[in-house]
Amino acid sequence: GEMTVGETAKLLHKDASEVIKKLILMGVMATINQELDIDTIQLLAGEFGVEVEVKIPVEEDRFETVEENDAEEDLVSRPPVVTIMGHVDHGKTTLLDAIRKTNVTGGEAGGITQHIGAYQVEINHKKITFLDTPGHEAFTAMRARGAQVTDMTIIVVAADDGVMPQTVEAINHAKAAGLPIIVAVNKIDKPGADPDRVKQELTNYELVPEEWGGDTIFVNVSAKQRIGLEELLEMILLVAEVNEYKANPNKRARGTVIEAELDKSRGPVARILVQHGTLHVGDAFVAGNCFGRIRVMVSDKGRRLKEAGPSTPVEITGLTEVPGAGDPFMVFEDERKARSIADKRAITQRQSELNTNSRVTLDDLFKHIKDGEIKDLNVIIKGDVQGSVEALKSSLAKIEVEGVRVKIIHSGAGAITESDITLAAASNAIVIGFNVRPDAQTKAAAEQEKVDVRLHNIIYNVIEEIEQAMKGMLDPVF
Ligand code: GDP
Repeated sequence: GEMTVGETAKLLHKDASEVIKKLILMGVMATINQELDIDTIQLLAGEFGVEVEVKIPVEEDRFETVEENDAEEDLVSRPPVVTIMGHVDHGKTTLLDAIRKTNVTGGEAGGITQHIGAYQVEINHKKITFLDTPGHEAFTAMRARGAQVTDMTIIVVAADDGVMPQTVEAINHAKAAGLPIIVAVNKIDKPGADPDRVKQELTNYELVPEEWGGDTIFVNVSAKQRIGLEELLEMILLVAEVNEYKANPNKRARGTVIEAELDKSRGPVARILVQHGTLHVGDAFVAGNCFGRIRVMVSDKGRRLKEAGPSTPVEITGLTEVPGAGDPFMVFEDERKARSIADKRAITQRQSELNTNSRVTLDDLFKHIKDGEIKDLNVIIKGDVQGSVEALKSSLAKIEVEGVRVKIIHSGAGAITESDITLAAASNAIVIGFNVRPDAQTKAAAEQEKVDVRLHNIIYNVIEEIEQAMKGMLDPVF
């Protein structure tokens, strides 16, 4: 990754003497054969008014260019990773706790349950991994950071309450991620429970049970009375079997940080999900911009592990700093390599924070279309009343310019929320507010995530703006 002063001068089309002069002005005493690090090269280029793009050699950059080129015979089936979502108070936490306690098989009984961000249960000698943070906000926030940790979503709907706004949000977040959905109709023990009404309501969201000709699996459960849990787990295994989730356990581990914190006595602690390969105590690794060496690895049952294979959640210590939730995790051959990759990642992160053109906005939409980068314009619509939201939805669905169409990934009546912004960021969508505005916090989130939020109060204007943007005829706004 490093270059000498002479090589840098050549790259910048300058004389070495000019470069050395500039370096001295920057406080770096340099000779022509001296090696410069990437930071210095970038600073230097900036001084000359030149922008250099740091391209990390592919061999070292397996983080970003994650391509699975495992041979079919190296892949073995791995446990599915499941997230639970649904409306508040419909029983997500209770269900997660109840499922955790169904784990009575095997010799693991007696272990002290640890909260490590995810846990595993075993049924019919097969394992299932559950992410322990219920709700679509956490899930979509991870996705917005590029992390794909889940295979499947359980949407929990209380049978006495039915489909509620956050149920719809959860469905749309799961769909935007392209995940299979299983519906758990919860609280069937309650007197007012009406599971059939839930099924009926969900047909409006293309979740149609098998007995009505659809292909969505519904399971009636009571998280509180522990009814139907085994059936739910069996259905998860069924979906897993159909989708054939596999990984190669015989390579260096790679995964995602689920959560991390600074522990008073143990230092930085990260809870990670191993997704590929096998992680071993002593492995040198990078998590986000941090690096380290696995000192202690603990399972969700509080047991010390020597190694952990695909779909296993573990808590690790041995980090130099605290990484972020959703950060990629990867093992390298030695600590030196890990440190240099972590440094490079810090630089590329700084660059991408400066780089605003990866998210779609209406202003640069046409360019993205021309470059063949997008086939659908993903849109989230929030409006003051359901009627205008529906009117907008049907008008926008009719727009088609040069094969590009508008795809409504989420809509609803109500203010624009931070969850809408996160979904937009994760799905490269724009947000349209009709007679509604984002509050200050949401506005700040949109600015930070570079999500384009358009506010209108006339339907015609929305349609015109989108059409013009798709044709590259939008007047620039100053
Ligand atoms: P969350 O907000 O979706 O995580 O919901 P919680 O798990 O916190 O549950 C909300 C309330 O519903 C709590 O008082 C639970 O005890 C109750 N609850 C959850 N599941 C059931 C169930 O199957 N039957 C009954 N009767 N109550 C339940």
